[in-house]
Amino acid sequence: MRPVAALNDHEVFDRYPDELIDHDNIDHYRAMAERRLVIRHCQDCGYWIYPHRPICPECLSENLRFEEVSGRGTIFMETRLHQLRDPDASIVEPIVAAAVELEERTGLRYLSRIVNCRIEDIVLDMPVSLTWIEEDGCIWPAFEPAAG
Ligand SMILES: [Zn+2]
Repeated sequence: MRPVAALNDHEVFDRYPDELIDHDNIDHYRAMAERRLVIRHCQDCGYWIYPHRPICPECLSENLRFEEVSGRGTIFMETRLHQLRDPDASIVEPIVAAAVELEERTGLRYLSRIVNCRIEDIVLDMPVSLTWIEEDGCIWPAFEPAAG
């Protein structure tokens, strides 16, 4: 795969104009634009930190680094959104929003969408894997049923 040059800060803001991007999460979005899901990882105690924080909640270390996660997890919780928010949006409803528990640590739950799956087939604890969707010019992580 051809490596993508890292976007500068202005390009990240341009790619995600409706997101609240700040010092603590901009590298998350920068990677997302390259279809890489990164989460802060404490270099002192090994704790994976999400939601984004500048300090490890386990050991108070500031020695954190964004690292790519495996993209494997299970559905911890999900909800279905049927309300049409924007009639001009390219989103096909209903949307399945889920807290996916990533395999990197128990309780590390990433909020995302479930795609490529019939709604009636979605069950809690279902194994899922990372995929990417593009909506209105923005690239977003999503999860689909794991192969096998
Ligand atoms: Zn730590």
